[in-house]
Amino acid sequence: MNDEQLLRYSRHILLDEIGVEGQQTLLQSHALIIGAGGLGSPVALYLASAGLGRLTLVDHDTVDLTNLQRQIVHSTARIGSPKVESARQGLAAINAEVQVTAIQQRADAALLDALVAQADVVLDCCDNFATRQAINRACVAHAKPLVSGAAIGFDGQISVFDSRASRRPGAPCYACLFPPDSPVEEVRCATMGVFAPLVGIIGSMQAAEALKCLLNLGDSLAGRLLMLDARRMEWSEIHAQADPNCAVCSPKN
Ligand SMILES: [Zn+2]
Repeated sequence: MNDEQLLRYSRHILLDEIGVEGQQTLLQSHALIIGAGGLGSPVALYLASAGLGRLTLVDHDTVDLTNLQRQIVHSTARIGSPKVESARQGLAAINAEVQVTAIQQRADAALLDALVAQADVVLDCCDNFATRQAINRACVAHAKPLVSGAAIGFDGQISVFDSRASRRPGAPCYACLFPPDSPVEEVRCATMGVFAPLVGIIGSMQAAEALKCLLNLGDSLAGRLLMLDARRMEWSEIHAQADPNCAVCSPKN
């Protein structure tokens, strides 16, 4: 690290749990962020400000006026721009040394397979069940940790699905908790609405879990699903085990 980096990251370096070595790890890490919207905004901003070396952002959409109530990496001046390009500019303003790859594409299975293979950690910040399943399949296939977040209305949830060999034994994948063939009621912010700071709360926690995961710091949310009711600001927690018959991660497959 050069002198400027030592200053920029000094408040991380002061932490015994991170230090120079941990910060160096972050600078050499690569995170894949699927979705540059409400969750992807705080995720990308915190990972960039914290000095994560490489970020790959995937989102097919463009910035719309209705996004700006909560998607804080974008700006009024960038309405109409591709979200990944707008985010790249927002991130460059806070930390220009982070290498950002902006991919304006829908995250389909082929793209995810290629991108997940290159990432150290994957953040699911998307807004639909099919993409969540595809991200999980790629993460299990490539044994990459997945930090998954969701938010709608006043309800948020977050968990970590870690299929690395070093994971907590018996920890589930996303499909263990939410089987791909289960009937889902697809609800979106466009129709349901979403409380603006809720995506900030959940997204910031996703960023925290991703950094912890890369640093091997503390205990992750693997095997625990946290759910927030922001009306009462009340958290509940479900402990989950791997499903031996899971269609995605079971060794029987
Ligand atoms: Zn599973």
